Amino acid sequence: MSLTTGFIGLGAMGAAMARNLHRAGLLTTVWNRTAAKAQDLAAELGIQASTEPASLAAQCDCVVLCVSADADVLAVVDRLLPGLRAGTLVIDMSTVSRDTACLAAARIAAHGGQFLDAPVSGGVEGARQGTLSIMVGGDTRHLDRARAVLEAMGSRITHMGPVGAGQATKAVNQVMAAGINQAVCEALTFAGALELPLEKVIEVTGAGAAGNWFLQHRGPTMTRGQFAPGFKVALHHKDLCICQAMAKALDCTLPLADMTLADYRRLMDAGHGEADISALYLEKTERTP
Ligand code: NAP
Repeated sequence: MSLTTGFIGLGAMGAAMARNLHRAGLLTTVWNRTAAKAQDLAAELGIQASTEPASLAAQCDCVVLCVSADADVLAVVDRLLPGLRAGTLVIDMSTVSRDTACLAAARIAAHGGQFLDAPVSGGVEGARQGTLSIMVGGDTRHLDRARAVLEAMGSRITHMGPVGAGQATKAVNQVMAAGINQAVCEALTFAGALELPLEKVIEVTGAGAAGNWFLQHRGPTMTRGQFAPGFKVALHHKDLCICQAMAKALDCTLPLADMTLADYRRLMDAGHGEADISALYLEKTERTP
């Protein structure tokens, strides 16, 4: 049976994910903090914009969230609880901490609802194309119910364990993303200093063992000085703070994350917090004579 689904958080990722749910015939209603975004998308898709998270929850079998950070997820969960019907499934696709996933799950369970944490990787391109990689934490029976909803947005859906395991996996992903960003920006800055043709460097290295998604999608734009998001510096900074806190609790170190946090801090102080994370290239090139 298909689930009537409402979507909360129509940002760079959420708007594209909601469009894919609409294409799959699952989207009933949307809500966004800045109401105009919900009204515009609802008008485009011929669906209804809800005025409150609680009224959205009251109309849906499934509520999908994609908002910014830990406090935002918990604030939205608290605002939808008054309308939550028993058995409604809430899927949080934001990137937040494992602890936040557990807190949200407990609040939703106390109101008779079900919860999955299902953070994503694949960037705004993956969100648009419906090819996200989705890392799921929670009860497998809830995942079985959610499968058609998740399949509308992603091409790989992987159950990682109990509630919080999706977010723990995403934390691992974000440390990897930091390292890849560092490697690509440093290498292309080096290529520039060597006065090599950057487009050809991206093409030839991208076709070999050093090839990767970030180089392919962000290499051409960063070397042209274009940093439209994408994935914002401030959001990756938020994710790496989560990773740092988790690592500290486990007594392990994440030197790459530490270095990237310091670089992002400088970028944010210089007014680049809303730029794509490939703006790290600016940091590298400005420090290269
Ligand atoms: P974004 O463009 O900044 O959008 C954030 C969305 O969250 C907006 O709709 C915003 O509403 C809403 N929001 C923020 N705080 C809120 C609050 N307190 N109450 C209600 N709504 C709130 O961010 P994004 O790039 O779509 O990212 C969303 C999530 O996906 C983040 O957790 C991010 O880390 C994760 N993610 C992003 C990417 C990427 O490439 N962009 C990839 C994977 C995962 P307003 O419109 O009112 O501001």
